[in-house]
Amino acid sequence: MSALSKSPWIVHYNASSCNGCDIEVLAVLTPLYDVERFGVINTGNPKHADILLVTGGVNAQCRKPLETIYNQMPHPKVVVAVGICATSGGIFRECYNILGGADVAIPVDVYVPGCAARPESIIDGVVQGLAVLEEKRKKFRKQKEAYKLTYEYLTGKTDAE
Ligand code: SF4
Repeated sequence: MSALSKSPWIVHYNASSCNGCDIEVLAVLTPLYDVERFGVINTGNPKHADILLVTGGVNAQCRKPLETIYNQMPHPKVVVAVGICATSGGIFRECYNILGGADVAIPVDVYVPGCAARPESIIDGVVQGLAVLEEKRKKFRKQKEAYKLTYEYLTGKTDAE
């Protein structure tokens, strides 16, 4: 389990954002806001990420890629919807091609309001996401322990992973 107690890494996906929220996400990573001081690192690889930041509403084209990125991330993981578009579809929600916010495709843990979401709000959302991630990690550890004990009980072996 020590592999899971590392600093949280994030992966960012622009669903159909106008780029306003994406610029604010980038601002969070610059030295001005410097989210790396919390140990948060931006990675391009979902397989290395703990937190998925989604910007923009979800349409038919981006739904599948968003689901794929989510499914490629290891458990436990957290999703933060950044901006009102990722939260609900926002000002584009009545458009013919918009299905809604990120939660039409994947489970969302934290919703960050704003148009565009301010860097302070995004950092706040990530910090809330860290608390959710910690809770999920605890639950994951308990499930793994329960699985191990069941395996040992049923098989008499002690090599469950
Ligand atoms: S919330 Fe506003 S800034 Fe962000 S993607 Fe939507 S329209 Fe653009």
